[in-house]
Amino acid sequence: MKKSKAKVAFFDFTDCEGCQLQIVNLNTVLLDILEHIEIVNFREAMSEPRDDYDIAVIEGSISTEHDIKRITGIRKQAKVVIALGACATIGGVNAIKNRTPLNISLMRVYKDKADKFKTIAVKPIDQVIKVDYYIHGCPVHPNEVAEVFKCLLLGKKYDVPNYPVCVECKMNENVCLYQKEQNCMGPVTRAGCNSWCVNNGNICYGCRGLIDNPANDAQNDILANYGLDVNEIIDKFTLYTAVEKKYVKEIKE
Ligand code: SF4
Ligand code: SF4
Ligand code: SF4
Repeated sequence: MKKSKAKVAFFDFTDCEGCQLQIVNLNTVLLDILEHIEIVNFREAMSEPRDDYDIAVIEGSISTEHDIKRITGIRKQAKVVIALGACATIGGVNAIKNRTPLNISLMRVYKDKADKFKTIAVKPIDQVIKVDYYIHGCPVHPNEVAEVFKCLLLGKKYDVPNYPVCVECKMNENVCLYQKEQNCMGPVTRAGCNSWCVNNGNICYGCRGLIDNPANDAQNDILANYGLDVNEIIDKFTLYTAVEKKYVKEIKE
């Protein structure tokens, strides 16, 4: 008897939908994955959604009370939840809003209509529901998407790397950008993207979030070695990691 395929639905919350676009761009890898799953809801790629899903892939962060209600309902139905991209896994750029008191952010954006918009501090989705698999990044890296789906289909756990991007960067034999007087979030950022940005001539902006035990002292030593002040990179630290306020506070002191 033919084995039935797992039914997968994609949902978006507060985000730019760039991570879903990455899925569409998977090309042949997507075709391989589609041999084993059936996509029943994907707003960017299909027009007749169904709600008989077992696996929910969730893009975007939580930023309204309505989002909380909606995502809780999705979790009740889904046997497996995948957080897709930085907005979902760590709050992403949306969480920059959390750096300013909510009423001030609302006034800046909506002016005299501020009281008409109900919003809350941005949360990654695991602050509201249980998450089974994490695919970090802004946007997600195609290889990791394929790897996570492979683990899921084999019923295996996916272990997100918990060492810094610098490890991958060194293995790729890049010249460290600090030697070129640029600051880079690699020393404290979770690897798994194969140092994607640095390989392509850019700095690491920390889009995969901080490793569990970021070596604050080592990072500060690197900054000091190159005559840089931590305050010069504080905006980089809070571009993606505004939800992780504790660490930002520590490095400021
Ligand atoms: S993680 Fe980045 S690319 Fe993905 S949805 Fe959020 S803002 Fe867009
Ligand atoms: S600091 Fe940046 S450029 Fe230097 S090794 Fe680490 S990731 Fe690479
Ligand atoms: S190098 Fe840094 S910013 Fe670029 S994808 Fe990797 S973690 Fe994200």
